[in-house]
Amino acid sequence: MRKINFNAGPATLPLPVLEQAQRELLDFQGTGLSILEHSHRGPDYDRVHEEALSLFSELMGLPKSHSAIMVQGGASLQFAMLPMNFLPPGRSADYAVTGHWARLAYEEARRVGAARAACDTAGPDGKHTRLPRPDELLLDPKAAYLHITTNNTLFGTQWRALPDPKGVPLVADMCSDILSRPTDAAKFALIYAGAQKNLGPAGLALIAVDRDWLKTARKDLPDILSYAVHLEARSIYHTPPTFAVYLVGLQLKWIKANGGPAGMEKRNQAKAELLYGTLDRLKGFYTVPVEKESRSLMNAVFHTPSPELDDLFCLEGEKEGITGMKGHRAVGGMRVSLYNAVSLVDVRTLTDFIESFAKRRG
Ligand SMILES: *Cc1c(COP(=O)(O)O)cnc(C)c1O
Repeated sequence: MRKINFNAGPATLPLPVLEQAQRELLDFQGTGLSILEHSHRGPDYDRVHEEALSLFSELMGLPKSHSAIMVQGGASLQFAMLPMNFLPPGRSADYAVTGHWARLAYEEARRVGAARAACDTAGPDGKHTRLPRPDELLLDPKAAYLHITTNNTLFGTQWRALPDPKGVPLVADMCSDILSRPTDAAKFALIYAGAQKNLGPAGLALIAVDRDWLKTARKDLPDILSYAVHLEARSIYHTPPTFAVYLVGLQLKWIKANGGPAGMEKRNQAKAELLYGTLDRLKGFYTVPVEKESRSLMNAVFHTPSPELDDLFCLEGEKEGITGMKGHRAVGGMRVSLYNAVSLVDVRTLTDFIESFAKRRG
């Protein structure tokens, strides 16, 4: 029996996507080969590759000025690739340090060049429970770019409105909320996301880049680290992770068939309202440490009155077939990830469990 999966990433995939992959695994669309066995230079894989890129561009609403790229190495490679391409000597980049991954992106940039924290929302305990207030974000008008993390996966916070970068190119790590809502892509010089949260399995990152901005990128890089080289090669500069690209394509089709980003937003809002509403109603027992206005629709972080009860909560949940709720070790408590593929019915099962646990243990 399949469990209800609230893992933070790799995360649950839509069942129809897994079923189609299973049906096609041995013989991909009558070609007599598995998609795993097809050459990345052959026409059968090429269709899969182009479809994934074009669906991504379509669902992201990319304007004509922007192009989609896929590369291996996950989001962590992007932490390094971004400054290598766009942070030349003599310039400085701004980073909004709003969580764990945002800090890692910032630290990686500092190994490449000059970077500055435009804000740091860590509390005295090192935890981030809110986004910066507008007057806390101190921007350098000469910055090479401003980097933000639209959803802070560990701490459960999410930007609602974008900050005004005041003319500085805006770059976003959208790993954990990409295509969970409509994106105004024209506002970004570059967007990147590892696939394994909202878009598919682990193995690649999807990128949207403004080609005019790309013209300003450094040219003296190893090919493999150059966005321009990957774009020029249609993201087949070398062997792409073909099976992951195929699965991302299936999941993008699933997103499209389910109302696209606007449909995902509706679905995600309904799930988050149900979950946070339940937790707030039981606030004598459960605590959501994140400030209300900063709460993430994707990753809900909460805890019970004690770490022992938190452990018991996860353990009893497992017995009921609900998995992946243990919080990140840097945060503790529970974290429930409500990515696109999680259904409202699954969240209803969870909130029933949340209520019964509070009744039994409260
Ligand atoms: C998961 C995550 C990452 C890291 O992704 P990898 O693909 O493991 O490198 C980076 N940023 C955010 C916001 C994430 O949620």
